[in-house]
Amino acid sequence: MSPFDLTNRVALVTGGNGGIGLGIARGLAKAGASIAIAARNEEKSAAATKELESLGAKVLAIKADVLKEADCRALVDRAASHFGCLDILVNNAGIAIRKPPQAYTAEEWHRVMDTNLTAAFLCSQAAYPHFKRAGGGKVISIGSIMSMQAAPFTVAYAASKGGIVQMTRAMATAWAADNIQVNAIMPGWINTALTATARREVPGLDEKVKTRTPAGRWGEPEDFEAIAVLLAGSGSQYITGAAIPVDGGYMVVA
Ligand code: NDP
Repeated sequence: MSPFDLTNRVALVTGGNGGIGLGIARGLAKAGASIAIAARNEEKSAAATKELESLGAKVLAIKADVLKEADCRALVDRAASHFGCLDILVNNAGIAIRKPPQAYTAEEWHRVMDTNLTAAFLCSQAAYPHFKRAGGGKVISIGSIMSMQAAPFTVAYAASKGGIVQMTRAMATAWAADNIQVNAIMPGWINTALTATARREVPGLDEKVKTRTPAGRWGEPEDFEAIAVLLAGSGSQYITGAAIPVDGGYMVVA
């Protein structure tokens, strides 16, 4: 069997109704997986469902707010009970609030940390018994170049994404004996709704991304299809605790 074949595998992608999450869901669907997507906006989820179904996948859209602990646990159990098992969890839902540290409210700090990091922990924890039952599983969490780097307006975002990498490493050590591989992807500057405002409004950002990124362009959601398939499939049985940049080389430039 091809190490990139996901036939009969069930994947859950939080924030799978747009941007990088939908890019990942497309990749997993093309490789043969059944897909559950979980997000708040039902209209976006309906459009994403249609698109993924057109690729031949069985799709379940779950309305959920990952800021709520109960939703995190329920969305994982719902995906597993609908398809009969769960093999792959992609912790992708995320937000950014651009403000200097001194302007952050406690509520804003918690909103970013809880959406980007706590939800990834809670969904992973909820997935664990399903993976145990299946004899193994895959956790793929979305970090960022801000897992390693920082900027004046990213205090909570960088803290949450740094946390994703360390959480990934800790869970990889804890669950290796259960045949669960836990990895992170660190996107660079990607053309999605998350970056659209900054790209429009931050003077020079668009040009800076193009000139500083060795690849010479913004990333696209399609750039995440193949890495997700690798980390979701049998080809990555010996890859765990890794944080892999998908950034066109952005992070290695001095
Ligand atoms: P988008 O804004 O396009 O997508 C974010 C997704 O998260 C949406 O599907 C949204 O769905 C979902 N989401 C947000 N909040 C919640 C919530 N409370 N409950 C459930 N779902 C939620 O952004 P991207 O695709 O760019 O971002 C995806 C991930 O990639 C994020 O973790 C982001 O931090 C990370 N990333 C992005 C980079 C970029 O340059 N774009 C760079 C580095 C990392 P809905 O609104 O329907 O709930």
